Amino acid sequence: MHSKSIAELAQGLRAGEFTSVELTRAYLDRIAEHNPALNCFVSVCEEAALQEAKLADRRIRAGDAGDLIGIPIVHKDIFCTDGVKTSCGSKMLDNFVAPYDAHVVAQLKQAGAVMLGKANMDEFAMGSSNENSFYGPVRNPWKLICVPGGSSGGSAAAVAARLCVAATGTDTGGSIRQPAAFCGITGLKPTYGRVSRYGMIAFASSLDQGGPMARSAADAAALLQAMAGFDTHDSTSAEQPVPDYSASLNDDLKGLRIGVPKEYMGEGLDSAIAESIQLALNEFTRLGAELVEISLPNTHLGIPTYYVVAPAECSSNLSRFDGVRYGYRCSDPQDLEDLYKRSRGEGFGAEVKRRIMIGTYALSAGYYDAYYLKAQQIRHLISDDFRAAFEKVDVIMGPTAPSTAFEIGEKSDDPVTMYLSDIYTIAVNLAGLPGISVPVRPVDGMPVGLQMIGNYFDEARLLNVAHQLQQVTDWHSASPAGFE
Ligand code: GLN
Repeated sequence: MHSKSIAELAQGLRAGEFTSVELTRAYLDRIAEHNPALNCFVSVCEEAALQEAKLADRRIRAGDAGDLIGIPIVHKDIFCTDGVKTSCGSKMLDNFVAPYDAHVVAQLKQAGAVMLGKANMDEFAMGSSNENSFYGPVRNPWKLICVPGGSSGGSAAAVAARLCVAATGTDTGGSIRQPAAFCGITGLKPTYGRVSRYGMIAFASSLDQGGPMARSAADAAALLQAMAGFDTHDSTSAEQPVPDYSASLNDDLKGLRIGVPKEYMGEGLDSAIAESIQLALNEFTRLGAELVEISLPNTHLGIPTYYVVAPAECSSNLSRFDGVRYGYRCSDPQDLEDLYKRSRGEGFGAEVKRRIMIGTYALSAGYYDAYYLKAQQIRHLISDDFRAAFEKVDVIMGPTAPSTAFEIGEKSDDPVTMYLSDIYTIAVNLAGLPGISVPVRPVDGMPVGLQMIGNYFDEARLLNVAHQLQQVTDWHSASPAGFE
């Protein structure tokens, strides 16, 4: 059952071949068997999941026809879940039980999806390897000594290992696409504002965006359908109609103009990965698309710009964790200052503290213009690069990450090398554009991701293009040995 797509499962459920309770039980059994090796989960909600499955079965019997009814999924532990621990991968929130559901969680619940549990992640979504979690690193199902990528590494590894049908993730600088690439799954970061951030714990508010992680573009389309849309609780959510993402999956690609940025295919990219990307591009030309070389000249400024903007916003967002209202509180504080200092000092991990310090510095009087303001100006230049490119092409393609999954511990002592993992994904967040990563030919047995970047609110096209590739190739259906 765990190899079936959402459409196949929905069909099987409706035809009475199996029930959602049986399906949920099967996934819970897989989690019990495999999670000890992978550490994908912060919480497994066995009883609640079976209860939700029972309700789903009732809805199905009553003739409710939604595709997600009774489908077992997992939420990244950054999304608030009513009555369930929401840790954000941090000691700071290890004792936090959310009193409400995030918009995305509520939407998927309403669509009938069953929540199996909450996925491990880098603390406050800061990281590219899932080594920054208070709950320990997640392991990559393709090679257990390797990282799954981050920060949505628990979600990615759980989908890849077939411990859930699909999952939610969030992407501030690459955290859906990069772990999707490292784990051989499909991950979509929507346009900024497409998916409500209400109840999604904030890291860098102008960059954060939730999205689906799944085994195929068709499955991701089904999830996005429920996640996307205007929400009055999020002032940055877009008041734009949500198209039917599944309806355009089969549109043909004749005449599609694909821009390939020369900055993405040159220096710094592993040559075997470049070959895999080229192989996928060739598939598109066979499908009738045309390749156009383009330039995104400010690509090299993406990482330095991001590492001013994201820490600045995080230093402000994380100031709410003060040991007073909720979250971790130190024992026996002597006075208020001691309470603040020790609660934050003991509750946050090293990477989070590093970011708070960088951000506080960048925002301080005297430095604001030199760093934050400058970064905002460069952010405009980066957006303009994409704007100019989309006058010539319909979609941009290149690698998702410069390497395949690296070993646990390999980069954890060197934050700057770690930051380079996101060199191809970060500019997309700075510009607020949608991007998807899909698996292409592996290198030395490890998954490789092709990144496709679309124009604003063009998720339907990204899913269509990804689906067409997945109709003529089977890179996305490979599963890691031991997790078939
Ligand atoms: N790896 C990047 C960072 O550490 C991006 C993280 C993310 O997208 N949440 O900030």
